[in-house]
Amino acid sequence: MKKILLATPTMHTEEQQYIQKAFETNWISPLGPNVDEFEDKVAAYVGASSCAALSSGTAALHLSVILAGVKENDIVFVPSLTFAASVNPIRYEYATPVFVDSERDTWNMDAAALRKAFEKYPHPKAVMAVHLYGTSANMDEICALCKEHNVPLIEDAAESLGTTYKGKMTGTFGDYGIYSFNGNKIITTSGGGILVARQEKDVEKARFLSRQARDPARHYQHSTIGYNYRMSNVVAGIGCGQMQHIEEHIQKKHQIYKTYKEAFSDIEEIEMNPLNREAVDNNWLSCMTISADSSVTPTQVMDALDAEGIETRPIWKPMHLQPVFEEYDFIQVEDGMSVSEDIFNRGLCLPSDIKNTKEDMERIIKIVRKQFRQQ
Ligand SMILES: *Cc1c(COP(=O)(O)O)cnc(C)c1O
Repeated sequence: MKKILLATPTMHTEEQQYIQKAFETNWISPLGPNVDEFEDKVAAYVGASSCAALSSGTAALHLSVILAGVKENDIVFVPSLTFAASVNPIRYEYATPVFVDSERDTWNMDAAALRKAFEKYPHPKAVMAVHLYGTSANMDEICALCKEHNVPLIEDAAESLGTTYKGKMTGTFGDYGIYSFNGNKIITTSGGGILVARQEKDVEKARFLSRQARDPARHYQHSTIGYNYRMSNVVAGIGCGQMQHIEEHIQKKHQIYKTYKEAFSDIEEIEMNPLNREAVDNNWLSCMTISADSSVTPTQVMDALDAEGIETRPIWKPMHLQPVFEEYDFIQVEDGMSVSEDIFNRGLCLPSDIKNTKEDMERIIKIVRKQFRQQ
């Protein structure tokens, strides 16, 4: 029985050539020509003037939080429906996350809930928006609220490289934006991240902090706490090769989403994850929700697929329900079951590996349909 996985790295041939070059020239280090080229390629792709390649998306978020001036006990608004990696960097600085509920339209931070958060906490130090599963948040509303309150915006675009909102790349709306190149993302370097910033001096500062904050002096002098967050030249070589194929990866992800959507269109209990009408998605992961009145549960679907060697994943469990973050506030528009918890309860992520064949897709679809007694 062939295993079908959720999303694994898809390598081509150029990655090896870049790595080969790194070995031949002995650039086995953080910094080096592959790092420079990778930064140039990503900056050009997203339309940023420059960017800093780092060891992970989480490292890029941590530096964004620092650059936004977030300090101990400062408040940062962040969506509850996200991966813990969005929130942890806020806690690295001993700041206080305030979780904001999602909207049904995009599953991302609800502007109405964000407005409510500003009423309760008028002076947050930063707002972090996340583009979940590759779907853009409603940036017009979020940017307008940040501007109105004069608060810096950090964009966690770890999952949404290549997604455009009104023609502009996600990750480039905020004062700071980050992308991840972890193994299962739209492209990968095996592990890595990139930070973009509206102001060039912030990218410079991120580079400085990522290299142990060494002052420009001949001797080793330090005036601030630094980090070892640089991307290695070997890893960046993988990224250079991958960047040549990003559009192809996105096209294949579109096809996967479309195939599921069509295949389940006659089953009323199934809804695919909503896409932002103002955006072109990268469809990083295709997800579905099951209507509340259905007798079928996400666990049942996941178990049935698992029994056939097919990997799925639950929707991210909301942060306000996590033991580690239970003391922090959560803002929702209406009382009762929050939108984020409802999506978590009723949803699952479907296999979205771009190497899955037509036959693989048919196998997955058949098993899902069977749960709903549809052949
Ligand atoms: C993957 C991911 C990150 C972290 O990126 P790493 O490169 O794995 O550190 C942050 N936020 C979200 C939403 C992610 O999916």
